[in-house]
Amino acid sequence: MTKDDTMTKVLPLLPLRGLSIFPHMVLHFDVGREKSILSLEQAMVNEQLIFLVSQKDAKVDDPSSDDIYKVGTISKVKQILKLPGDTVRVLVEGMSRAEIVNIVQESPYFEAAVEEKHDSKEKNVESEALMRKLMEAFEEYVKLSNQISPEVMATVSDIEDPGMLADVVSSYVYLKQSQKQELLEAFNSNKRIEKLLGMVTYELDVLRIERKIGVKVKKQIDKVQREYYLKEQLKAIQDELGEKDGIQAEVEKYKKKINKAKLPKEAKEKALSELDRFEKMGLMSAESGVIRTYLDWILDLPWNKETKDNLDIKNAREVLESEHYGLKDVKDRIIEYLAIRKLNKSMKGPILCLVGPPGVGKTSIVKSIAKALNRNFTRMSLGGIKDEAEIRGHRKTYVGAIPGRIIYGMKQAGSKNPVFLFDEIDKMSSDFRGDPADAMLEVLDPEQNNTFRDNYLELPFDLSKVMFITTANTTDTIPRPLLDRMELIEVSGYTEEEKYNIGRKHLLPKQIKENGLKEGSVVITEGAFRDIINNYTRESGVRSLERRLAAICRKAATMIVEKDKDSVKVTSQNLVKFLGQPRYRFEVSDKKDKVGVVTGLAWTAYGGDTLPVEVLVMQGNGKLELTGQLGDVMKESARTGYSYVRAHAEELGIDRNFYKDFDVHIHAPEGAVPKDGPSAGVTMVTSMVSALSGVPVRGDTAMTGEITLTGQVLPIGGLKEKSLAARRAGISQIIIPSENESDIKEIPENVRHKIKFILADSIDVVLKNALVKEKDHDNKKS
Ligand code: ADP
Repeated sequence: MTKDDTMTKVLPLLPLRGLSIFPHMVLHFDVGREKSILSLEQAMVNEQLIFLVSQKDAKVDDPSSDDIYKVGTISKVKQILKLPGDTVRVLVEGMSRAEIVNIVQESPYFEAAVEEKHDSKEKNVESEALMRKLMEAFEEYVKLSNQISPEVMATVSDIEDPGMLADVVSSYVYLKQSQKQELLEAFNSNKRIEKLLGMVTYELDVLRIERKIGVKVKKQIDKVQREYYLKEQLKAIQDELGEKDGIQAEVEKYKKKINKAKLPKEAKEKALSELDRFEKMGLMSAESGVIRTYLDWILDLPWNKETKDNLDIKNAREVLESEHYGLKDVKDRIIEYLAIRKLNKSMKGPILCLVGPPGVGKTSIVKSIAKALNRNFTRMSLGGIKDEAEIRGHRKTYVGAIPGRIIYGMKQAGSKNPVFLFDEIDKMSSDFRGDPADAMLEVLDPEQNNTFRDNYLELPFDLSKVMFITTANTTDTIPRPLLDRMELIEVSGYTEEEKYNIGRKHLLPKQIKENGLKEGSVVITEGAFRDIINNYTRESGVRSLERRLAAICRKAATMIVEKDKDSVKVTSQNLVKFLGQPRYRFEVSDKKDKVGVVTGLAWTAYGGDTLPVEVLVMQGNGKLELTGQLGDVMKESARTGYSYVRAHAEELGIDRNFYKDFDVHIHAPEGAVPKDGPSAGVTMVTSMVSALSGVPVRGDTAMTGEITLTGQVLPIGGLKEKSLAARRAGISQIIIPSENESDIKEIPENVRHKIKFILADSIDVVLKNALVKEKDHDNKKS
């Protein structure tokens, strides 16, 4: 292995008891130890990567670093399920071998620096020969053992990489813990195959002898006798293991539950046939655990449970109003929807999609809808889902299979007609494991979703009574067919005034309650409230605001307890005591006029934002440099602007030959954030003209607009969000395209009054208003 193949990573570590995991293997297991749960949580905030390594002795409860092996597997956490009690069930996929370099910490959870060990990709004659031998042995093993589905062979025979082949076969063959560890520690893939081959050959010998014994016994007794004999044998074994009563009692228990559960016919038949299989197996066999989990799933699903809808419009309006401030459009649309439902109960309504920046109450208003309708609520986040199986589940034959998230959500809902929220439908992606959007299409299609099939369940489940609602930050990344199926409701960012009201009426009372304080025990003055909004948060929604209020309540709780007070008052003067120094300044006055620096306005998935653009001109030979992660569209618009400036240099008071003697560098700060779109055209031209002519740009002015080569200004989107962002940044004048004039009326009134809007149809108008007038400029200079 060359040096480049190795890489050290620091990862949370989880000691496995009596289990091992190989790369390429999917495994599920239950975690109960607090330390291990902390490791898992750490992994979830850290690309879901975790280092799994076996304990030398499974019985040790609180292992130290000496109690675990040195070599384990870096794995990806695919799913976490909370089980009753403090246990969680995790599904992980092994990624690569790694060896501990050193243990970084042992508490509160294990963390280790590990060195990744990759298999060398080289293949030689020897490895080819070893692979063939291993395949032969494994094929025979599959035939003899009767435990592995023959389909596995098909998958295994496609593997071309020797190391991977060894790992995959290892995960199917019955091996002792110490043998598995030995295989894990074999970094060289040929050595690994050799070792494994030895183990498989031994297992084959054992299996052959077992067979021989079986054949002899069979010959001696005829069929009836044989069955009787087998049953007696089974009983005898179960007696011996003290399981008989256990199994019978469990079978009875399940039988009762199945009969009581009012399952649809198909589900009932399936459950009973699985129970039959269960009865024939020992309590201890691995398969019986799988069947039990499966039966529990069937029994836990709300096949026939329904809540009764409350279609009282007045009640609905009251619930929505009492829990949320503002959001008039959303509330109206929902009431309309309910009214139509009331008139036509069988109507299969469109699927609503709430689109808007984070923290504007999309999720929480959906909860209120459920409450207003008297339906249960369940949600699933689609953010980061790449694999269709996460939605539709894994086949039962897959090790550690569980149902997909839809079925999981239905179980949590506890009724077949809940309000089911799909959060972040714009954040799904697809890869080679299938497109989750296809599965979502089926789920959301009223023609198909009454027989939704989960791969694990293998039974149709009726989703037609579910009210699906989705949320998204932007519609740009929602797959077209899904988008067509949904009705969009826009939820936009809040003004200071709205934030103040939401904070005062909803967030503060909620936080006071959550922190166990009495009503009225935390008093925040209006001034302090506005300071929190302007100086401690900068966002379209109210999430940070809620967090700041929570922080104040926590501090207040301590003060009330420690100093035995009744209430705490927060004012502008003592705010620093609660929240520390302000994070942001509401920049009203410190916006200075600068040369080559312009405030643009952008519209992103997170709401509106300011987009500063800087231009520097230097001696050179006419290069145009663009930095700051600009997207293609934005780069093109910079070039368009550059050409325009070149063509009109003289009128603009710029040396005609600048492009021969100077380089121009355009940069959009916060270089790590990708930016795109055509609406920064005017911003770039203005900053270029300012930098080349030396005339400063007004610091109190922001702008947005697309430009053409002839200097026309074209309309843009998101004016409302952009204006809110400008207001947050203390801007007092915005230059916008003339064609956007009609959008001004949608901007909340108190913002509209504080900002002067200048309409521009050409770049001349933009420059005239943005550049500091010659006279002022000279005055300022002197
Ligand atoms: P989103 O789903 O849009 O990201 P959330 O629903 O998580 O936002 O909202 C964040 C927090 O702000 C929640 O506690 C929510 O109750 C609160 N909130 C947002 N908008 C409002 C509003 N208009 N009235 C009352 N509370 C609100």
